[in-house]
Amino acid sequence: MVRDNMLRVRMTDGEMLLLHAKAARERSSLSEVIRRAVVEYEPMLPPKPGLCPEEDEDVPMESILYDDVRELEVGDEKHTITITGIPAEKCPKCGTIIFDLDLMAELEKAELRMVNYFTRKGKEWPEKISIEELARLLDH
Ligand SMILES: [Zn+2]
Repeated sequence: MVRDNMLRVRMTDGEMLLLHAKAARERSSLSEVIRRAVVEYEPMLPPKPGLCPEEDEDVPMESILYDDVRELEVGDEKHTITITGIPAEKCPKCGTIIFDLDLMAELEKAELRMVNYFTRKGKEWPEKISIEELARLLDH
């Protein structure tokens, strides 16, 4: 199911031309090309890591994938589910972890939908779910 999530994207004229050309070649829509590009895209590491905000000296943060254990109350039941593979930055010195705020807001929304999904379908809750699995579940 495709929900109308509107995203304003800045593109150069050249990028826009390429997008139209790629969509025309396969006679699909611009949205379809972008949706598939998102699924297939492999992110690169940031060229310059951030610095730990807790240190007096410059300590570069390291990119990590964080597993977040979440306790969810659904009616009278408590579920523990670990969302795996959340991209974050961690200080190798003091252990401070910084998350992307936009991503965490999206995860909160996804968590609500996930609760609905498992409750409505009466399905067995998994102990762990990756962001990719969560994304597939949302589009189920
Ligand atoms: Zn630190």
